[in-house]
Amino acid sequence: MRLLVTGGAGYVGSVTTAVLLEAGHEVTVLDDLSTGHRDAVPAGAGFVAGDVTEAGRVLAETAYDGVLHFAAKSLVGESVGDPASYWRANVGGSLALLDAVRSHGVSRFVFSSTAAVYGDPQAVPIVEDAVTRPTNPYGASKLAVDLMIETYARAYGFGGVSLRYFNVAGAYRGLGERHERETHLIPLVLEVAQGHREAVSVFGTDWPTDDGTCVRDYIHVEDLARAHLLALTAATPGEHLVCNLGNGIGFSVREVVDTARRVTGHPIPALEAPRRAGDPAVLVASSDRAHERLGWKPQHPDLTTVITDAWLFHGSSHARGAATQRPEAP
Ligand code: UDP
Repeated sequence: MRLLVTGGAGYVGSVTTAVLLEAGHEVTVLDDLSTGHRDAVPAGAGFVAGDVTEAGRVLAETAYDGVLHFAAKSLVGESVGDPASYWRANVGGSLALLDAVRSHGVSRFVFSSTAAVYGDPQAVPIVEDAVTRPTNPYGASKLAVDLMIETYARAYGFGGVSLRYFNVAGAYRGLGERHERETHLIPLVLEVAQGHREAVSVFGTDWPTDDGTCVRDYIHVEDLARAHLLALTAATPGEHLVCNLGNGIGFSVREVVDTARRVTGHPIPALEAPRRAGDPAVLVASSDRAHERLGWKPQHPDLTTVITDAWLFHGSSHARGAATQRPEAP
């Protein structure tokens, strides 16, 4: 297929681009490089610098079989302080993109959605029919786009798929997490092991979990990327399919830190800190629907593999270059 990938210079977008190319697809990346990196776009993909509102120009030039939409703002804390930029980029940008998809007759649309649409879940593992009550503007903006795709797919006849990611981690073929402002647990823990920061803060030790720390479902980025490949085939005209993507296994913050200690051989000091606003205690996916509808099964559900791959990436020249430029997280 000929595919357009928005946000293909970012973490998940670049890994998915690599997996799509390996599967024999033709890929053009559209990315404004606001948070992505030009050198993360895999060789073999075309590249257009621009934001998603310019997708119409790209889709007008050549006939595309599908669009995979990753370009978005994705920091929960930032979205609380500056919701306008989240509604504008995530909802306004997606609306412009969907209109371009519609007017150029693209038949498949795959969207990066998030577990944040569920907010604080009433039950785990979380199924796709669970109540959606996001606790921050980031999650709300992603839910708005899920709803938009639902109506567009039905009314205009393309096949839409929303993939709701849980906690993505790991790396694939030299492509990994390189955020300017790192907020995610696994890369922060590995920065301690690298000597770039003194300690990791554990946000809350009084949660109603076995060891008192939050539990999350950490999914390997390669497994996540492969689900996109399958979603392209599963996209059915006139339908919107929603699938959670997680392993169905939860690990606590303490288990993540302990695993990283074993993988890196570094003591990784951990400091107890207050709870972080907006954090639910436990987020674990039911991946039954992804299994049934996409034929997807994670190949790397083991936390040690996820952290080892992230660690190998962090030790690479790419990540080292980025880390030396990276300011301390707030
Ligand atoms: N976390 C932590 N210390 C940090 C960063 C994160 O204890 O410095 C915790 C956070 O409270 C959550 C888990 O680690 O329970 C995963 O957080 P992350 O930001 O990686 O992903 P999120 O679950 O917010 O998508």
